[in-house]
Amino acid sequence: MNCHILTLFPQMVLDGLRTSILGRAEEKGVLSLKAVNIRDFSENKHNRVDDAPYGGGAGLVMQPGPVYSAWKSVTEKLQTNPRVIYLTPQGRVFNQSVAEELAKEEELVFLCGHYEGIDERVLEMIVTDYISIGDYVLTGGELAAMVVIDSIARLVPGVLHNDASAEFETFHDSLLEYPQYTRPEEFMGKKVPEVLLSGHHGNVDRWRRKQSVIRTARSRPDLLEKAVLSAEEKELLKTLDFQEEI
Ligand code: SAM
Repeated sequence: MNCHILTLFPQMVLDGLRTSILGRAEEKGVLSLKAVNIRDFSENKHNRVDDAPYGGGAGLVMQPGPVYSAWKSVTEKLQTNPRVIYLTPQGRVFNQSVAEELAKEEELVFLCGHYEGIDERVLEMIVTDYISIGDYVLTGGELAAMVVIDSIARLVPGVLHNDASAEFETFHDSLLEYPQYTRPEEFMGKKVPEVLLSGHHGNVDRWRRKQSVIRTARSRPDLLEKAVLSAEEKELLKTLDFQEEI
């Protein structure tokens, strides 16, 4: 997968994303992260890319010309017409199923706004998807692009050391993941659940599934509406007392 990020802060995005797993994925050649500096396409001698909003009001708005030219510099080299994702608090709220949908694309362009946002005309011309990472306002789209790219990239085959780890975690089957434990077997008097030491895979799987259902009911009951639960699991939910420690 090739990700092209149109931004005023290319270093911020690349430094963040290339740390750890995605950096190694780039070295392996399964992922490419390229940032284009919108300021390089400024149309005035002071290198400005923003101006006051027509109609008045606070702040500055990113001008359409540099954004359009930055987009053109990426897309004119491609054979395909990639989806262009504008990170904005006004977009569709990002979640795991949107990540799964976008992970199927070969090329993706991410557009990061700043200041009060971007001139509407260029958005109408180039943007295919408006995505928000949540109902709060950031100073710029860079952190949002990093969140979205990180969660998409780890679904691309070959990015994670073990591809199965992306399949069986939180939000898979609309359930939160079960609790995880590692060495030592006992930590400050707290023991790892016995079943996980048993070596009995069937029992481990059953225990984990039960913990997932209980955890989801306790922390994110809204997710259970979409989860496919067995009759036994539905009965279990009726008996739960959420005051009790699981
Ligand atoms: N004036 C805009 C509005 O009210 O919709 C907000 C502009 S915000 C200060 C600057 C930039 O940050 C936006 O253009 C967008 O790229 C990014 N941004 C802010 N909050 C975001 C969010 N929740 N999700 C994705 N991007 C966000």
